[in-house]
Amino acid sequence: MRQIIKTSLILFSLTIFALACQQEVEVEKTVDSAKPRNVILMIGDGMGVAQIQAAILAADHALNLESLNNIGFSKTNNAEGKITDSAAGGTAMACGVKTYNGAIGLDANKQPVKSILHYAEDAGLASGLVATSTITHATPASFIAHEESRKSYQAIARDFLDTDIDVFIGGGYNDFAKRDDGLNLIDSLTTRGYQVVTDQAAMADIKTGKLAALLNEGPMPPVALGRGDMLPNAATKAIELLKQDPDGFFLMVEGSQIDWGGHENNIGYVVTELLDFDKAIGQVLEFARQDGNTLVIITADHETGGLSLLDVDVLGDSTAVNFSTDYHTGVMVPVYAYGPGAEAFRGTYENTAIFDKMMTALGLDKQ
Ligand code: MG
Ligand code: ZN
Repeated sequence: MRQIIKTSLILFSLTIFALACQQEVEVEKTVDSAKPRNVILMIGDGMGVAQIQAAILAADHALNLESLNNIGFSKTNNAEGKITDSAAGGTAMACGVKTYNGAIGLDANKQPVKSILHYAEDAGLASGLVATSTITHATPASFIAHEESRKSYQAIARDFLDTDIDVFIGGGYNDFAKRDDGLNLIDSLTTRGYQVVTDQAAMADIKTGKLAALLNEGPMPPVALGRGDMLPNAATKAIELLKQDPDGFFLMVEGSQIDWGGHENNIGYVVTELLDFDKAIGQVLEFARQDGNTLVIITADHETGGLSLLDVDVLGDSTAVNFSTDYHTGVMVPVYAYGPGAEAFRGTYENTAIFDKMMTALGLDKQ
């Protein structure tokens, strides 16, 4: 017995000694300990600071966004230095290159560029995409497809099958099922091991494995017209499935329709979509706070509508808001970050740097 105690004591002392030795290394390791296992990029399409401020003014509670302290600005212009669209803006963040408007996963010379989702897949991480548009729309498409035109929705749907993406959730069923080439990509997805669901209740029942949730024929309806908690629930479901991969994951979650409210110059549409997006942000941050190993970045591809706020009653007083365009503008958009490596997102930089910073955070090398 005494021998056992003695041995235990020696082992205990050795452990303490080893820990003490490690501590010196620990300091240099701060870079490493800032390396998250998971990265979640959240894109509020068309979400400038005026849109966020409008939602803050309209809300009866603080936004989840307001809890974040690591903040930067992203310069969004496209390869020609002009106002970007969501394809060039999405490709900049997904692939790290400035390109022409309309390009999906191609550089300015129409050459395919590898996205962070593909890099993550090749490194053994799991990956996912969530959107409230069709899943074939410009923003999610930039992370997975390579097409000369963002309008090639059916070709973009086909591109999903060239990848190992684990989870995708959004609208766009028809781009997979009702195609001009007669192919039924739903069957192809099933053959490749995806559980394909077409409503939110069925999505809730999926607890493991690969998931293709195509929850509407076209885009999802606006949240004010019956989408419910689809976006927060989809973000939570994607995390639930992806976190089962011990190697980590990359996930992009888009609040797609903040932009559509901007195009319509409809402040109610903008605010309700932004509050819904913020609800999804709350879900994601709750996971990240528990997990401690997840970097969350929340930003936009561009501002939409040239929104200015002239008074505080943004929903009640029609003179309180002013849109200066029904298209996008060139103002910088905010970048919020939380989790290991979040400090790297402070400052003012090109939108392509978001790709570089995420790659660095995950320890992935560009090839
Ligand atoms: Mg979009
Ligand atoms: Zn737009």
